[in-house]
Amino acid sequence: MLVSNATKQRTIPPSWKGVLAWLQGVLSFQQDSPALVQAQYRAWSTQCLLLYTVLLTNIWLLAYTYFSHAPGWLVLYIPSALTVPCVLRMVMWWRARSRTPSAEQMRAALVQATVVLWVIAPLGMVWGWALQDYGDRYMQSQIIFCMAMTVVCAMLCLTQIRQAVLSMTLLANMTCLVYFITADTLVPTTFAIAINVSLITFTLLWMLLHQYNDFAELIHTRQHAEHLASENLRRAHRDSLTQLPNRREFFLALDALCEQARGRGMRFAVAIMDLDGFKAVNDLHGHALGDQLLEQVGQRLQSLLQSRGTVARLGGDEFALLINDATGDAPDFISFGQQVCDGLSAPFQIGSTALQVTASMGLVIYPHLASSATDLYQCADYALCQGKRNSRGMVSLFSRQHRERIQRDATIQQTLRTTQLEDELSVVFQPIVHAGHGCTIAFEALARWHSPTLGFVSPGEFIPVAERCGLVAPLTEALLKKSLQALATWPESVRLSFNLSVHDLISPAAMQRILDMLLRSGITPSRIDLEVTETAATHDVEQMQRVISTLRSRGYGVALDDLGTGFSSLSQLLSLPLSKIKVDRSFIMSIDRNPVSRKIVSALLTLSRDMGLECVLEGVETPAERSTLMELGGMLMQGYVYAKPLPGDQVTAWLQTHPAPTSS
Ligand code: C2E
Ligand code: CA
Ligand code: CA
Repeated sequence: MLVSNATKQRTIPPSWKGVLAWLQGVLSFQQDSPALVQAQYRAWSTQCLLLYTVLLTNIWLLAYTYFSHAPGWLVLYIPSALTVPCVLRMVMWWRARSRTPSAEQMRAALVQATVVLWVIAPLGMVWGWALQDYGDRYMQSQIIFCMAMTVVCAMLCLTQIRQAVLSMTLLANMTCLVYFITADTLVPTTFAIAINVSLITFTLLWMLLHQYNDFAELIHTRQHAEHLASENLRRAHRDSLTQLPNRREFFLALDALCEQARGRGMRFAVAIMDLDGFKAVNDLHGHALGDQLLEQVGQRLQSLLQSRGTVARLGGDEFALLINDATGDAPDFISFGQQVCDGLSAPFQIGSTALQVTASMGLVIYPHLASSATDLYQCADYALCQGKRNSRGMVSLFSRQHRERIQRDATIQQTLRTTQLEDELSVVFQPIVHAGHGCTIAFEALARWHSPTLGFVSPGEFIPVAERCGLVAPLTEALLKKSLQALATWPESVRLSFNLSVHDLISPAAMQRILDMLLRSGITPSRIDLEVTETAATHDVEQMQRVISTLRSRGYGVALDDLGTGFSSLSQLLSLPLSKIKVDRSFIMSIDRNPVSRKIVSALLTLSRDMGLECVLEGVETPAERSTLMELGGMLMQGYVYAKPLPGDQVTAWLQTHPAPTSS
């Protein structure tokens, strides 16, 4: 609307005072936007040839009619002089027809076209009136008719070029007026015809100027819409925080790269990175600082990558890199990836806060093990997840073993979906023993799956798959049912330790069903400990606090399992209302020969004592490990040194040699 009003104001003068300034503005192309000039140029290019053909034809038809009546200079030289600029313009049009001129060239072409008309229009008029003297009344009317029609035709052809329409009409009509004022052969009929023609051309001019306004408005609206569309497109492909390409753009670029590399023997690598412990940064320093860190990480990644590839932010603290190296080998890509990871480990200065983070990277090389965009992404992401389990701040290359693992997981998933979980799953029980007294404090229930098609599948394999494919709830329920049935047959002073998955804990519906089952079993809650892994506990600390508090308030014990494997902050973990911690096997292994493990376990034992928590030492395999642990003050132990997990029917026999405590 603004555009339209502005244009109208320029077309219709607000007062006679500014007529000159207005005319100057209206006749110049300088105020027109490049988009409008382009549209005018396009319209002019399609109509130019037509206009000059009509002009030339009319000039020469008139010259022909007067050939034997008027002198040679009027019917030969002047038409020839008028023909020259017309033909020149036609030649120029012909030569420029396949070129795409710049905005300035288009502007210049429109100015030229207007100037040519400034010359042709008055000259043509003067020529016409000069011919009048040599014709009879009938021939004179032909001149008026021919000139009027030519002006009308020119006006129509120049609709989109307001400057040309205006100047041509003004010049033609002014010449006409001068002629009428100065002519001495004027008769009422020609006078009337001239007035008619002038009125019609001015009416036409009025309508065309309004049409021009609509045209200009349309162009501006279209330009605005195009600008909006391109801005939307840009935003749709950019991450608003880091201004890096976003997930969508990354996949488009990856698709294009695959297409380009296909069949050409080209190589490139896709890397997925995430920051280790970014969640803790957000929790400790707030989201605003977390955002600034992500911005700086994006900038640093760009400078680390330079011309070797592109970086995108996929979401959260997940970044993706496309590393180009047509001839690169796996070691080259890995060493470059490690360079990037190392580069990120230098501190970030955010205001007055200096932050140090590490980043892990999953890497896959095209086209070894994956060749489509989705496959490449999934493989790199898989390598990242696997890599993060063992080490952080490192590069993990997607390998053939990873591919086999994925295939195996897919088979397990397929089988799990079609299996009767209750029939094929069983539970075994591993004793937790008091090393001092030799009595059995509790049994940890561990899942076993014997599939008729796959054979024995370890819980380390099928539980993560069940978690990924949303099957963990029925699995937990089937296992809990069997475990509670077994617990009901054990002596009162023996407890059950039951593992819960993070998916059980974060789903209120699943948790409610578990609580209902526990309640329905009628077993004293203090006989049951629920084990929560460290990674689950830090998944969403607030949510975990709520769930664990609920369990504790109902009298159940809650043990933090695999302590030391989850790279999480100890203070955060110990803020949870736990009743027990279980030190991971990795710290127990060879503790008799490893002073570092000894120090860690000793510190954890002191900590658990100070906090009034029980501490179970997992995976004790040798008598030497057991003695060392006892020296450090650890008493509750679980491991092969006592027993491997036992089938339910062997529990009674076990309790004969390692009896339950006399009081619970
Ligand atoms: P976890 O909860 O840490 O269970 C202890 C694992 O260590 C068990 O492996 C056990 O057999 C093994 N283990 C015990 N003592 C020793 C030892 O001295 N040496 C060695 N090398 N290993 C020992 P398992 O039964 O294969 O279970 C693996 C993991 O699968 C469990 O680790 C747990 O995270 C998960 N899992 C097992 N059963 C269940 C279940 O019913 N529900 C859920 N959610 N997870 C389960
Ligand atoms: Ca456990
Ligand atoms: Ca454990």
